[in-house]
Amino acid sequence: MSDIIKKIEAFPISIPREVPYLGKLEEGNSYNEKGYFIRPGNRSIYSINDQSLLVKVTTRTGEYGWGECVAFYVPEVCATIISELIGPLLIGRSVHDVVKIYEDLYDAMRVRGFFGGFYHDAIASVDIALWDLHGKLLNLPVCKVLGSKRHEKMPAYVSGLPMPTLDERVEMAKAWVAKGFDAIKFASAVSHEGIIEEMKALREALGPRVKLLVDLHWKFTAAEAIKLIRQLNQYDLYVAEAPLKPEDIEGQSLVVRSVNTQVGIGEELRTVYEYRPRFENSCMHVIQPEMGRTGLTSFRDICQMSVAFNHTVMPHASIGIGIFQAASLQASAALQNLVYHEYQHSIFDKNLKYVKTSMKCEDGYFTVPQEPGLGIEPEEEVFNFIKK
Ligand code: MG
Repeated sequence: MSDIIKKIEAFPISIPREVPYLGKLEEGNSYNEKGYFIRPGNRSIYSINDQSLLVKVTTRTGEYGWGECVAFYVPEVCATIISELIGPLLIGRSVHDVVKIYEDLYDAMRVRGFFGGFYHDAIASVDIALWDLHGKLLNLPVCKVLGSKRHEKMPAYVSGLPMPTLDERVEMAKAWVAKGFDAIKFASAVSHEGIIEEMKALREALGPRVKLLVDLHWKFTAAEAIKLIRQLNQYDLYVAEAPLKPEDIEGQSLVVRSVNTQVGIGEELRTVYEYRPRFENSCMHVIQPEMGRTGLTSFRDICQMSVAFNHTVMPHASIGIGIFQAASLQASAALQNLVYHEYQHSIFDKNLKYVKTSMKCEDGYFTVPQEPGLGIEPEEEVFNFIKK
């Protein structure tokens, strides 16, 4: 078996959804000819499809690894960065230099000002594929390559209640609790009846033992967020996620000092350089790194840094077919400060049919694959959805 890289391929994918992520479009809202629309609740762009970017790295003797990054918007961009820019740099290098390769790729564009964004997402997908291949060649699951498997079963919190009315969202939450889950996050961007009203209704329906989280979608000023989180905490709020604009470090710090609720941030941050000022300014209690943006090497670095600040980790789970999700479970299984992993049921369950894996989420827990590498690869059917 050769560990020398021979080929890197990138596949932009677009899989149709029946209902858009976060639920039906709002009254009067519509999508454009490219399939994109803006959610007025958080002013952010979404696709009506599940889009993703898959990467395959192959060695001289035909062994291969799979990667994926968050690319639910223009996956063609990362595909071009990989095929035209970073892929050719890796030909002839050893898969076992995965960390050095990540550092070299970051280094290659840092003085051009590319500290994140699409460029880092492209690196993340390649990095994940290299870790998969590194593990396969060592005949070990990636969590073991990282040095430990602390979590055989990983606690999962249910993310999102994508139903149009509050009554239906409450019913959906009750159904998840009946299935063995003890923590649920609702999305304030689609709390059309009111955020406090939704919190109150969920608490009354679910009782005192279920943990409730809310994604505040970067919508508020510090003063607004402090007032809102205090009101929500009357109903015992477990985590308030992303209350302020990502850039507002001073505001995030003020919120954390002013409320008695855990604050979580970080899904949009990709490196220790982006996390560092938030750690130093006490901007959160919980970090929420997104594997599909960080890649595995940077995810590991960020989580190691969080240990020194006594923060906990609840990794984010974004839109993909499951490959970066498997990487997130593998990396999370090795963490000493993991509390929960996000479970995006409306994406995870729907897209499991497009991958071969033992990964699953049942009875409140994720199962971490134990096969060599990440323990996942795409089914052939996925390639019917390559974006032309
Ligand atoms: Mg979020």
